[in-house]
Amino acid sequence: MEHIVIIGNGISGVTAARHIRKLSDKRITIVSAESDYFFSRTALMYVYMGHMKFEHTQPYENWFWKQNSIDLLNRYVTKVESNTKTLHFSEGDSLKYDKLIIATGSKPNKFGWPGQDLEGVQGLYHKQDLENLEVYAPNNRICKRAVIVGGGLIGIELAEMLHTRNIPVTFLVRESSFWNGVLPEGESQMINRHIKNHHIDLRLSSNLKEIISDDKGKVKAVVIKETGETIDCDFVGLTAGVSPNIDFLNESDVETGRGVKVNRFLETNTKDVYAIGDCAEQHEPIGNRRPIEAVWYTGRMMGETVAQTICGNRTEYRPGHWFNSAKFFEIEYQTYGWVHGKKGRPEQEEHFHWIHEDDTKCITIAYDKDTYEFLGINTFGIRMRHEVFDTWLTEKRDLNFVVSNLSLVNFDPEFYKKYERSIIAEFQNQLTTA
Ligand SMILES: Cc1cc2nc3c(=O)[nH]c(=O)nc-3n(C[C@H](O)[C@H](O)[C@H](O)COP(=O)(O)OP(=O)(O)OC[C@H]3O[C@@H](n4cnc5c(N)ncnc54)[C@H](O)[C@@H]3O)c2cc1C
Repeated sequence: MEHIVIIGNGISGVTAARHIRKLSDKRITIVSAESDYFFSRTALMYVYMGHMKFEHTQPYENWFWKQNSIDLLNRYVTKVESNTKTLHFSEGDSLKYDKLIIATGSKPNKFGWPGQDLEGVQGLYHKQDLENLEVYAPNNRICKRAVIVGGGLIGIELAEMLHTRNIPVTFLVRESSFWNGVLPEGESQMINRHIKNHHIDLRLSSNLKEIISDDKGKVKAVVIKETGETIDCDFVGLTAGVSPNIDFLNESDVETGRGVKVNRFLETNTKDVYAIGDCAEQHEPIGNRRPIEAVWYTGRMMGETVAQTICGNRTEYRPGHWFNSAKFFEIEYQTYGWVHGKKGRPEQEEHFHWIHEDDTKCITIAYDKDTYEFLGINTFGIRMRHEVFDTWLTEKRDLNFVVSNLSLVNFDPEFYKKYERSIIAEFQNQLTTA
C-alpha cells in the first residue's frame, strides 16, 4: 500500500491527511516534533489569557487519529534523502515514504541581534514558547517589564497577552506608524491610539540595537538603536515576522528559496515531494498575493488541494479572493480583496475612509480611480459577511453600489448599533467636497 508521509501536524499537514483519508485507504503517517496532537496555533494566546486550557485548542479527540488510521509519530526530521525516499530523525532512526508532503510551517525571525538567544528572549509561535512565557513572564512580580520587538499581528497579540497579567510592556515598532506597510494611514493611526489607550509604551520608528544579559545569561535590558536608551526588562518577545521552517532541507535536493519552491500544483522539483502551508513558496505569486502565505486558511486550502493531487485528481491551487482577519486588542479587523497600505499601492487605487467618533471603528474601501470598480475593503470594529464581499469582488461591483448596500453585509449580532447611515452620509459629504 502506498505510504504517504507528512512532516508537520499543523493545519496544512492535518488537513492533507484528513482529505487523503476521505479519498483513499493509503497508509498515512504524520511526523511532528512539537506536540503529539494537532492544536490550533491561533488560539495559543487564549491559553495564557486564561480563556481556555491547552486541551481545548485541540479540535479532535485523541482517539480520532487511530479511528481514522492516521499514524502519528513524534520525531524531528533532520534530513530528507529523496533518492532512497527516506526521512532521517534526530533520534537516529528513519522512515521510508512513497510520497512526501512537507508542511513544516514557520519560525520566528531573528536578525542577528546581540543577545537574541539569551534566557527570557523568545518568539511566540510554538507550544514551547507558551510554556516559556509561564516561566519568564508569569506575572508582574517576576516580570517587571516586557519588551516586544516587531509590530505585526503576533506582536500585538503578545502585547495584549502580557497586558492581561498587568505586566508593563514597551513595544518597539520599526515603522513610523503601526503596521503601516499593510494598513492605510487612517487605520494604522487609529490602532496606534488604541495601543496607547491600553497603556502600552508604544515606541514608533524604534529599532532594537542589542539585548543585554545579567551575570546568569538572562536578559536584563534592551538598547534602542536610534536613541541609545537602555530599557530594563525581564522578558523580550521577538515578533518581527516569521519565515519558513526549512533548515532541515539544507542537504537535500529539494529546491528552496525563502521557502520550499512549488508550482501551482504544490509540487516541488523533486519527484513525489510536495510542500504546503506556511513553508511553501510559489515560483510566481498568484495575482497580488505573496509567494509565501503564512495564514491559517491558505494552509487548509493547500492541504485540501494536495490531497486531491495525491489521490489521482491533479488539482491546481486556486485560493480565490484574498481575505484575512485579526484582532487589535478589542478591535476586530477583517480585510477582503486588496486595500494597500504604503507598500506597493498601485497608482490606480483610491480609498474612501470612514471613522467613527469613538475612534474604535472604521472602514476603508479601495476602488479604481477611473472605473470606480470595487477592489477591496478593510473593516475595524464592525463585522461584515465574507461571502457577500467575495461575490461583489467577483461581480466587479462599483464603489457606489458597495457603499449603498453595506447594510446587507453587516454581521454584528442583533441589537448592536449599526453605522451604515453614518457611512453613507460621510460618503456623500466626501463626494460633494471632492
Ligand atoms: C500566535 C499566532 C497567532 C496567529 N494568528 C493567526 C490568525 O489569527 N489568523 C491566521 O490566518 N493565521 C494566524 N497565525 C498563522 C497561522 O497559525 C499559520 O499560518 C499556520 O499555523 C501555519 O500552519 P502550517 O500547517 O503551515 O504550519 P505549523 O502550524 O507551523 O505546523 C508545522 C509543524 O511542523 C513541525 N515541524 C517543523 N519542522 C519539523 C521537522 N524538521 N521535523 C518534525 N516536525 C517539524 C512544527 O514543529 C509544527 O508543529 C498565527 C500564528 C501565530 C504564531
